[in-house]
Amino acid sequence: MNGNGKTIVIVGAGTGGIVLANELRKRIAAQHRIIVIERTETHAFAASFLWLMVGQRERNAISRPVRRLLRSGVELIIGEGSEIDSSQRRVRAGNETITYDSLVLAGGAEMRFDLNGAETFFTLEGADRLYAVLREFRGGKVAVVVTATPYKCPGAPAEGAMLIRDFLRKKGVSAQVDLYTPEPQPMPVAGPQLGEAVSGMLTERGVGYHPNHALRGMDGGVLAFEGRDPVTAKLVVSIPRHAPPAIVRMAGVANEGGWASVNPRTLATKDPSIFAIGDCTAIPLPGTWKPNTPLMLPKAGVFAHAQALALAGRIAADINGGVAPEFCGEGFCMLEAGEHLAGFAYGDFYATPSPRLELRNVGRTWHLSKVMFEKWWLAGPGLRRSALATAMQAGARLYGIDLSL
Ligand SMILES: Cc1cc2nc3c(=O)[nH]c(=O)nc-3n(C[C@H](O)[C@H](O)[C@H](O)COP(=O)(O)OP(=O)(O)OC[C@H]3O[C@@H](n4cnc5c(N)ncnc54)[C@H](O)[C@@H]3O)c2cc1C
Repeated sequence: MNGNGKTIVIVGAGTGGIVLANELRKRIAAQHRIIVIERTETHAFAASFLWLMVGQRERNAISRPVRRLLRSGVELIIGEGSEIDSSQRRVRAGNETITYDSLVLAGGAEMRFDLNGAETFFTLEGADRLYAVLREFRGGKVAVVVTATPYKCPGAPAEGAMLIRDFLRKKGVSAQVDLYTPEPQPMPVAGPQLGEAVSGMLTERGVGYHPNHALRGMDGGVLAFEGRDPVTAKLVVSIPRHAPPAIVRMAGVANEGGWASVNPRTLATKDPSIFAIGDCTAIPLPGTWKPNTPLMLPKAGVFAHAQALALAGRIAADINGGVAPEFCGEGFCMLEAGEHLAGFAYGDFYATPSPRLELRNVGRTWHLSKVMFEKWWLAGPGLRRSALATAMQAGARLYGIDLSL
């Protein structure tokens, strides 16, 4: 217990956990403790894995010690968050037990690498390794395969395929790059218009797009799809199967799939002292993408970030008084297309009868915005106060992006 102060514990220092801890530290007095439990000492910025994979970034340049990304006054425990006792409001953090007033699950999604022999750009190590493989690649077919849904960042498979194609083309290697997915179109949540636009981007860049390909397995370089001819590839790049983090079940707030069930606007679970944000949640949206299958809010950093800001406001309002903000389901996506170009889509995902998205043309501006966001994120709260950060914020505002934290 913490005297008159409250104790807010956050499990997971990824996108959502970092933003939540920093925003809360700004909003509530120092007598209230903010404790972050994270199992890894180093944070890597996932959106940059795509650039790492094609040699446009170095591994160290996109990683930072977690401590450096947190404001002073936020306590960090490096260890495993486990053994939640919700009746006593206790959670185990490494070797100690902490009593909380509010617990926030921000544990992301775990990845399962079921395809032996496949490469991936979905982890730091995987993207680094894939760069070495692509450098040595002498030609043939490259299959980028979505092994299962849901997965994080709905644009990432298409981005990965386009960047690989661009890299091999510039290297002068003769390669056919194809993208296989069980989904009926790219980013089904974004509706048919955006799906067509993304398929168009893929086709223009010479990437073959194969929807409705549900993977059954892989043997050697041969991919087996349900009801389809087998596909042989020289190089298979997988978007791995995603699984919910164990902490969600431990907290007793999981749906039947193991993801956290939350109120879509308040991020509250059925336990009034437990909230969940980011990839570990499952938020159904109005509309379906196949019979009896609801659309779901995509797992993406942009939503983890916005949910963290809304929840920080809510917890602060509970402590300080005032109006508690809600997460309103808006988000955007910058889709890397290679050649330092990117597309941009902005969406209201809670709109009825189905999410409403607006598209912008492919251009250099969106790519630059993504680079700027990367620099801003990796600068951490200390450096963000510098003149450079101020200039970057002003630049970002020109593109309609709010970098304030
Ligand atoms: C290649 C790639 C490109 C992407 N590009 C984009 C993009 O352009 N735009 C975008 O919006 N999103 C993008 N994303 C998705 C984005 O990175 C994730 O959606 C986002 O990081 C989710 O944030 P989170 O806080 O929910 O989880 P994470 O950032 O994954 O963080 C979860 C953290 O919890 C920790 N953890 C889990 N369980 C425990 C435990 N029991 N104890 C202690 N620690 C624990 C983990 O170690 C991890 O650090 C991309 C992802 C990939 C892989």
